[in-house]
Amino acid sequence: MAVHTPMMEQYLKIKADYKDAFLFFRLGDFYEMFFDDAVQAARELEITLTKRDGGKQDPIPMCGVPYHSAENYIKNLIDKGYKVAICEQVEDPKAAKGVVKREVVQLVTPGTVMENNMLAERDNNYIASLSHFSDGSYVIAYNDLSVGETNVALISGGWNAVMHELYNQPVKEMVISSELPETLQDELREKLSITLSYQDETTFNAEYRGLCSTLNDERLVQGFSRLLNYIQKTQKRSLDHLQPAGVIELDHYLSLDMFSKRNLELTETILKKGKHGSLLWVLDQTVTAMGTRMLKKWLDRPLLNEQDIEDRLNIVQGFLEGFMERDLLREALKSVYDLERLAGRIAYGNVNARDLLQLKQSVAKIPEIKHVLSQFDGAGIRALDDKLQYPEYLVTLLEQSLAEDPPVSITEGSIIKDGYHEKLDKYREASRNGKQWITGLEQKEKEETGIKSLKVGFNRVFGYYIEVTKANLHLLPEDRYERKQTLTNAERFITPELKEKEELILEAEEKSVDLEYELFHEIRDQVKEHIPSIQFLAEVISQIDVLQGFATVSEANGYTRPVFSQNCLSIKNGRHPVVEKVMNDDAFVPNDILLDDETSILLITGPNMSGKSTYMRQLALTVIMGQIGCYVPCDEAELLLFDQIFTRIGAADDLVSGQSTFMVEMLETNHAIANATENSLILLDEIGRGTSTYDGMALAQAIVEHIHDNIHAKTVFSTHYHELTTLEDTLDRLKNIHVRAEEHEGNVVFLHQVKEGAADQSYGIHVAKLADLPAPLIKRADTILDQLENSEEENAHETGQLSLFSGDSTHIEQKPAANESEAIIVQDLNNINLFEMTPLDAMNELHRLQKKA
Ligand code: ADP
Repeated sequence: MAVHTPMMEQYLKIKADYKDAFLFFRLGDFYEMFFDDAVQAARELEITLTKRDGGKQDPIPMCGVPYHSAENYIKNLIDKGYKVAICEQVEDPKAAKGVVKREVVQLVTPGTVMENNMLAERDNNYIASLSHFSDGSYVIAYNDLSVGETNVALISGGWNAVMHELYNQPVKEMVISSELPETLQDELREKLSITLSYQDETTFNAEYRGLCSTLNDERLVQGFSRLLNYIQKTQKRSLDHLQPAGVIELDHYLSLDMFSKRNLELTETILKKGKHGSLLWVLDQTVTAMGTRMLKKWLDRPLLNEQDIEDRLNIVQGFLEGFMERDLLREALKSVYDLERLAGRIAYGNVNARDLLQLKQSVAKIPEIKHVLSQFDGAGIRALDDKLQYPEYLVTLLEQSLAEDPPVSITEGSIIKDGYHEKLDKYREASRNGKQWITGLEQKEKEETGIKSLKVGFNRVFGYYIEVTKANLHLLPEDRYERKQTLTNAERFITPELKEKEELILEAEEKSVDLEYELFHEIRDQVKEHIPSIQFLAEVISQIDVLQGFATVSEANGYTRPVFSQNCLSIKNGRHPVVEKVMNDDAFVPNDILLDDETSILLITGPNMSGKSTYMRQLALTVIMGQIGCYVPCDEAELLLFDQIFTRIGAADDLVSGQSTFMVEMLETNHAIANATENSLILLDEIGRGTSTYDGMALAQAIVEHIHDNIHAKTVFSTHYHELTTLEDTLDRLKNIHVRAEEHEGNVVFLHQVKEGAADQSYGIHVAKLADLPAPLIKRADTILDQLENSEEENAHETGQLSLFSGDSTHIEQKPAANESEAIIVQDLNNINLFEMTPLDAMNELHRLQKKA
């Protein structure tokens, strides 16, 4: 057994309780880390790894950060998903016998940070708990400590449903039972990048009763308790600002599975993972950070209840109609600070006078906001106005008590206004008078002694003094002055009177700083009483902000108010809200869409790059915009209320993953088929493209038939298998549409117009031409195509219809080929697996074929 110094023993003992965190161990002016912590921290933080002789033969790896700049290092680690335990010296080292006592005073974790610099302003920061129950259900309890919001959801659809629910939620840390199977833990960690923490105790603590009143299911209470038990155990802080837990009834919202959230790029794009290019990017015309956070929540959970949607739309309409007033409203909202997070920090206790001033400035804006609101029409806006209650008392309190420009620190005074507190005023006056007397003293002493260079000064060690140069010392009267300090050229003196005044001043100053500190805490506690109403104000202001944002974006982009129908979805001149924004003016071609009792499936054909998937995404985004209560990008919209949206839309990064494309495709399709109802919307883009023609087409057809016959969900299905268009003859609610493209002087021109009926050509060869393949090769391909088409026609004559599998290579082999080498080339072409090739392989293969031809 290695022998350690007593301090290392202490370290190891504390570290044993915080195995999954970096232990920042305070040693003088540094936080030190040892052993594996040190090795890993040195790497993560790019700081020097040193060694310490801990009384063992082998030196101990060590690294450290200065305590005054620790914040940045901690932030760095938290951002990377780690936890940091801050271990302080909890007794005065001078008074300590043996090793100074140390304790962990805070465990900083990604889900529990409150400090502004560690939080993204426009994102929520959730810590959540996950609990599983023997009946197969799960409970997720979400909490954003920085704002005090808690929500609990019961999930009955098994583990997959949990993953779909969590996808895209800003959950930084998840508290789970140690019994959750390892494979599931790995999924949370790896697929969702969530830091895991463990808490097995889920018994209900009576202290939480007030927060649980809305939870009507024992499973919800347990899930919530797991979360609170963990927060209490690790954070040792006031949770006064927590609002009663809300219940998220998942079936009250349009549900979007993980694939749709991703494919539709609602809040971030797939490739760049940024907001730019997402629907949020277009829609976010909010002014406050609270507004952006609420908009994200709305995008994540579009509504199902028609009345709720109409209520939002009515307000948007009101804001749209009063466009001049809307500018005033936006102006007024700009001076509202983040009330939600201020409320959180007030409860937690880490606010200074500047924060309270921000609070004051924000709530002081409410009369102005109310005044502007009163100028709009509509009952919805009136209701918002009524909800905004001006907390006059709070403004008066802060107005009267806080200085105009207080310092950051709350321990150095200058934070309370004159006139707020009688005693404080007295101390201040005493100090002012004393200082005035001292200013007068210099003049008086000069006159009495006749020493022109005599000075009265102050330093921290000796306090006030009278300074006389050595040359003038002889002019001083005897006995009146007491010598205090000798400098090279001068002597410093005090008088009993000066000492007395000094004591008065210092005492008054010390007392006033203490009193200010005390008063500040009193004020803060008074404000704390109002946290629920501040939180309510924050909620209403966020709503106003999101809805005025909808009006602003609807006006700027020419959106229309949708109406909701029972059986018909009809969009006239619909546009893709994001694509139209990133394209040059007016280049976007609007299109109609109609889905009703007679048509539940649209089969869309057209060449690659013609706009099929844009058309499909545009439909989904329009539906979502409508169901969050925003106007929609088109001339007229009659919408259906969908319960779920499922998408299988090829994403750019699928190409990178190569072989797995087909598997991803099938998983996503299966998920849609297993969960969709007749009220769902399914978008399937090029299903089957990831496998050989034969399988792909067969699967595609079977899927369409299954949806048509058994699910009845509204579906748009795009395919480049032209053969599938014959399904229109057999499936009575399926209709063909196509995206038009035209040939112009031998080149294909994409018109991006969607028309009825099937596309007549695939244009694949023309797209190849666009990609600059060599002219002789294109010419050769044209010849082959002609031949294939001719033989297909003959074949169709024989069987009386287009053969579903006429593109299959075995079939081609049986045909009388123009010559044998052509047949071989065609066969070779068919056998190429593009997904497994690099561009260079493809070039080589083409070269080989060209030589054969
Ligand atoms: P497909 O799915 O048919 O291969 P996409 O939907 O990916 O084609 O569209 C290809 C490109 O065509 C898009 O990136 C977009 O720039 C453009 N596009 C699509 N639809 C339109 C439209 N309605 N108007 C103008 N350009 C469009």
